[in-house]
Amino acid sequence: MAYMITDECTACGVCPQVCPNNAIWEAAPIFHINTWLCTECLGFAGAPQCVEVCSANAVVLAAVAVLDHRRRPFSGVKV
Ligand code: SF4
Ligand code: SF4
Repeated sequence: MAYMITDECTACGVCPQVCPNNAIWEAAPIFHINTWLCTECLGFAGAPQCVEVCSANAVVLAAVAVLDHRRRPFSGVKV
């Protein structure tokens, strides 16, 4: 499993600074997570750091994003 960034992202630029795996990058207009690099911060912190710092609540588990996509299509989600 990995985390993903939804189109709720405001591109504040904070989450890349806390990711231990450099898994987050800017791909205008929003940021994205490389799901191959995301380890959910296991072994680094007790909680996913990108989720902790995101004031827009734009970071979600990939499985949750897929389920939500079925209810309300995102415009900016990329794996
Ligand atoms: S959960 Fe942790 S490893 Fe995964 S993208 Fe967020 S900060 Fe990086
Ligand atoms: S912290 Fe949240 S709003 Fe800011 S760039 Fe990351 S995902 Fe986007």
